[in-house]
Amino acid sequence: MRSFNIICALIARRTLAATVAIAAFAFTAPASQAQLATGIPDDLEGVGITEHVGAKLPLDASFRDEDGKMVTLGDYFTEEKPAILTLVYFDCPMLCSLVINGTVDAIKTLKYTPGSEFEIITLSFDPTETPTLAKLKKQSYIKEYGRPEAAAGWHFLTGDETNIKRVTETVGFGYKWNEKMQQYAHSAAIMIITPDGTVSQYLYGIAYEPQTLRLSLLAASQGKLGTPLEKILMYCFHFDSSEGKYTPSALGIMRLGGSVIQINEVRYSSVAKGESLPDTVRTLECYADIIVLRHPEVGSAAVAAEHARKPIINAGDGTGEHPTQALLDIFTIREELGAIDGLTVTMLGDLRYGRTVHSLARLLGRYDVRLNYVSPEILRMPAELVAQLKEQGVQQTECDSLEPVMAATDVLYVTRIQKERFTDLDEYESVKGAYVITPEIMQGFRPRMALMHPLPRVGEIAPEVDSDPRAAYFRQMEYGLYVRMALLAMVLGKA
Ligand code: ASP
Repeated sequence: MRSFNIICALIARRTLAATVAIAAFAFTAPASQAQLATGIPDDLEGVGITEHVGAKLPLDASFRDEDGKMVTLGDYFTEEKPAILTLVYFDCPMLCSLVINGTVDAIKTLKYTPGSEFEIITLSFDPTETPTLAKLKKQSYIKEYGRPEAAAGWHFLTGDETNIKRVTETVGFGYKWNEKMQQYAHSAAIMIITPDGTVSQYLYGIAYEPQTLRLSLLAASQGKLGTPLEKILMYCFHFDSSEGKYTPSALGIMRLGGSVIQINEVRYSSVAKGESLPDTVRTLECYADIIVLRHPEVGSAAVAAEHARKPIINAGDGTGEHPTQALLDIFTIREELGAIDGLTVTMLGDLRYGRTVHSLARLLGRYDVRLNYVSPEILRMPAELVAQLKEQGVQQTECDSLEPVMAATDVLYVTRIQKERFTDLDEYESVKGAYVITPEIMQGFRPRMALMHPLPRVGEIAPEVDSDPRAAYFRQMEYGLYVRMALLAMVLGKA
């Protein structure tokens, strides 16, 4: 697993108030861990949002728009329209694009369009950013939004520090440059502004409920000031863009309103000092309500559970199991095809090292299903697992090509050849690319079936297949968020 380094802290009001430790252990690390990132680190001191509802924006503050033209904030408050203010920096590796994407997603569902019923001001708080970059961002977001006319009402501004600070201080938006990480620490929210430039409402996070946004804009358009909404502060900091996303568990917890202690960089932790897994777990549980554990060794979650007082969720133990993935997979099958019983599920690829298929086969074994395993000889499903399912009466077929089984397949579950598990890279080279699902191959499958993949894919499914309605893997990803949220809520006794 690529390790990434994120401290993601949330402060929730009126929420689940649970803390979850998510521990992901790098493969290169010894099988132990610790040193907690608890509370708010020094680097996040002063970062966050202090609501200043009723504050008046400095309408004379001047900036450059995306064409390099000098403008003042007041230029956007001349037509009796409310506005959305987003404070971001365009080069942000993470949270800012989520804020803008969240805005796009929410406004897509509204009848209102920027430029007609409201304005959007997206202001960079990084004084080194330029109109050229702002323009590129604007083009890509307007394209994503799909309403070109919105360009007239969505303004991507850059400016000098004095003018930026006048705005950020007015709205209570705290951010901080971190020299070591060469990034800003900041949080995620959008602000709704009345037509005369008064701060009316703060919407927190990276996903804005369209109905709330609509009502907030409506209230602001009438000059009304909003009451504080549930506040979940999300801090963006130390993010390694190579990972590209928050982990699903962390996102699930955030959406439930809990707080997350994320531990990834074992080199900064007691792992490096040789702490044992049982000790790590006993340390972590002093600070958290649940521990979500991803570890390179088979059986590590069971060891952790044995020593823990708090619930452990296995988020992948080496080549062993991935039970939460199996739950979301089965949920996906039900959503896509309506039932599980009576189906034929074909698993393809790396069945030896792929932990997701181990858990899924076990779970499916509890239903009335047929299982086909298609893999190269050296990557077959572990014999003990096949034997165990046979004993349970599950019908299983093993082969090395799709042809004999494709016509009868209801679910094709494709997996990645797990390069990181091979000790002999020549062996990996001999099997990589063994199966690639293309639109032509999809023609051999039933019109009603589901094509699934736990992701990431690295070539097993050609991108041209993505538009096939049977390609369910991105929906599967989304279902994963809900299933993990439900699981966390259940474990916490909140569901
Ligand atoms: N994301 C899945 C896992 O963690 C599948 C994979 O990595 O190929 O096992």
